Amino acid sequence: MPDLSAHPGEPHYITRSGWLRAAVLGANDGIVSVSSLIVGVAAADPNPGSVFIAGIAGLSAGAMSMAAGEYVSVSSQSDTERADIAREAKALREFPEAELAELTAIYQEKGLSEKTALLVANELTDHDALGAHVRDELGLSEIHAANPLQAAFASGVTFSVAAAIPLIAALAAPAGSIIPVVLVVTVITLAALGSLGAKAGGAPVLRATARVVVWGVFAMAITAGAGWLFGVSVL
Ligand SMILES: [Zn+2]
Repeated sequence: MPDLSAHPGEPHYITRSGWLRAAVLGANDGIVSVSSLIVGVAAADPNPGSVFIAGIAGLSAGAMSMAAGEYVSVSSQSDTERADIAREAKALREFPEAELAELTAIYQEKGLSEKTALLVANELTDHDALGAHVRDELGLSEIHAANPLQAAFASGVTFSVAAAIPLIAALAAPAGSIIPVVLVVTVITLAALGSLGAKAGGAPVLRATARVVVWGVFAMAITAGAGWLFGVSVL
């Protein structure tokens, strides 16, 4: 299909929103949850072996639950969309006049005169009645069509790749300095992720980066505190 965009140099980013959201969510969750886990365990017991085991367990459990959660939530969204479309198709079969009036009213609300709205509604109904109602009444479009497997895969993979970063940092850290090394690596990675996500989505970079970093550091601080408290009370 020819690119009909009036500004091909500045494309819209909304088409990326589905998998981008899953990917950024997965990566952010991967870094924050596994680095917090590592910092928490290291605060309680700085033995590299237990830190590594905790990191691996956190990575695999997190990736699976992230993918499963995304699959279930996106599947239920597409179930709802499919049920709505079936309801709409039934209404179009049983009450074509009422549906035409409804579509006309929708176009009037968008600013068309009654005469033009009726003309447009008639032409679009002749062309593809269900398509017109799904798009203009239900607000569903191909762009937003939920794809559970794609979303599950995107979030599971990005979770794992992102979670591997603090894990490798913990492995590479000199004994006794796991926490500061993981903290620094995590903050840098979160900042990179925040700006990448903002750029990919065409959103303001600074605000997105600050948001991701502040919440990440906050999560690590809470978990480190809990780990430290636990460590003190146990050891
Ligand atoms: Zn309708």
